[in-house]
Amino acid sequence: MSLWRQVPAMNDLLKAATSLVDQYGLAETKRRLQKVLGEVRKEIRAGQVPNVSVETLVARAQQKEQSYHLRPVVNATGTVLHTNLGRSLFNKEAMAHLSACGSAYVNVEYDLTSGKRGLRYENVEAQLCRLTGAEAALVVNNNAAAVLLMLQSLVAGKEVIISRGELVEIGGSFRIPDVMAQSGAQLVEVGATNKTHLFDYEQAITEETGALLKVHQSNFRQVGFTEAVDVSQLSTLAKQAHLPLFVDLGSGLLLDMSRFGLPYEPTVKEVVAAGADVVCFSGDKLLAGPQAGILVGKKKYINAMKTSPLLRALRVDKMTLAALDYCLAAYEEGDEYAIAQLPTLEMLQRSPKQLKERSIALCQNIQALGYKAEVWSAESAVGGGAYPEHCLPTFVVAIKEVKAETLHKALRQAKTPIIGRIYKQALCFDPRSLQVGDEEKIIAALEAIKEEARTE
Ligand SMILES: *Cc1c(COP(=O)(O)O)cnc(C)c1O
Repeated sequence: MSLWRQVPAMNDLLKAATSLVDQYGLAETKRRLQKVLGEVRKEIRAGQVPNVSVETLVARAQQKEQSYHLRPVVNATGTVLHTNLGRSLFNKEAMAHLSACGSAYVNVEYDLTSGKRGLRYENVEAQLCRLTGAEAALVVNNNAAAVLLMLQSLVAGKEVIISRGELVEIGGSFRIPDVMAQSGAQLVEVGATNKTHLFDYEQAITEETGALLKVHQSNFRQVGFTEAVDVSQLSTLAKQAHLPLFVDLGSGLLLDMSRFGLPYEPTVKEVVAAGADVVCFSGDKLLAGPQAGILVGKKKYINAMKTSPLLRALRVDKMTLAALDYCLAAYEEGDEYAIAQLPTLEMLQRSPKQLKERSIALCQNIQALGYKAEVWSAESAVGGGAYPEHCLPTFVVAIKEVKAETLHKALRQAKTPIIGRIYKQALCFDPRSLQVGDEEKIIAALEAIKEEARTE
């Protein structure tokens, strides 16, 4: 009998696949079986002789997982806020909350007391006000959106004064001057590239001026002969001129980063206290929350943004709000608790001693596979454009002998892709950005390509 005629019918397969149906439901079981049948027919057409017994095909369907484009990878680069790898992670507890909110209806715009329509931003606003000392707050998609909303709804058609030293480009496509043009606000650059004085701002104020804007340099630093005007000085000038002062902080801090060995930078609370009228920052940089743009400041300005039609285009969904709720609630419990609950902060906190121990253990397991590996002292980057000139001391496992590029390429094709860092021509794994269980994934991937790597 020809192999074609031996291929079982879907109905027969389904009858034998009861455990699959129990586990995944009928629709998913059918999808898997159909996939397997398609593969088998292709194999026969290609002249192969696949086993077409019911048991074999059901077993094949059992292994057939849905493959999605977006999938977990191991970040062994050591860069904590890796924008290309999605910046933020959430712990199991946060994910349980997100999962509960995702698979159920939630009171996103519903007041449980009155039974009437509620306000989307009410809860997160109260949390942000408590944490930053601001009068009011609002949340949008990301910080680029926050800058756009702030300028468009508050100063479109007016002039906005900014220092030449702060016309920063973040990533490939976000440039402060371009966003200002988009918002309809007119950019007035003051000062020189390296130095801007208070009188530069003062002299540029005219009838047309709508606001003063200060932008965090984020991903670059100036060294040498430089000068900038700080928030409290600018605030005094803004008050005298009856203008608002806007501050784009980039990465908003709710705790002092010097505890991680990073240079001190003012927290959002301090910037608000220094007199900024509106402060905006990212939710998923050093705040360690979901992608979001957060605006805090004076009621008058935040309320004007709340009624802007643009807000609707930039609004966040329930998943973002749920994640932000979790993250801000963690900060409200205190710094130690936030560090323990928010993976970004926990990774920054890892000590060189811990990292060395983790590297030594990983190195031994890699050596046991037959690779030549060593532990090197190195540096991890914070990432996300934050602290560009400051690294954190770490220890990495370096695989020598094998060509780094070739090995890296093979590891990126692993079941869970492994992303490392090439340093001094060796492929390195930095435990600073590894999660629980990642070492096992690295070992499994290295094991699977061992022969291939050796014959290189
Ligand atoms: C990162 C950054 C942005 C953009 O923030 P996203 O949340 O990534 O959109 C804007 N301004 C500054 C100063 C930044 O550092």
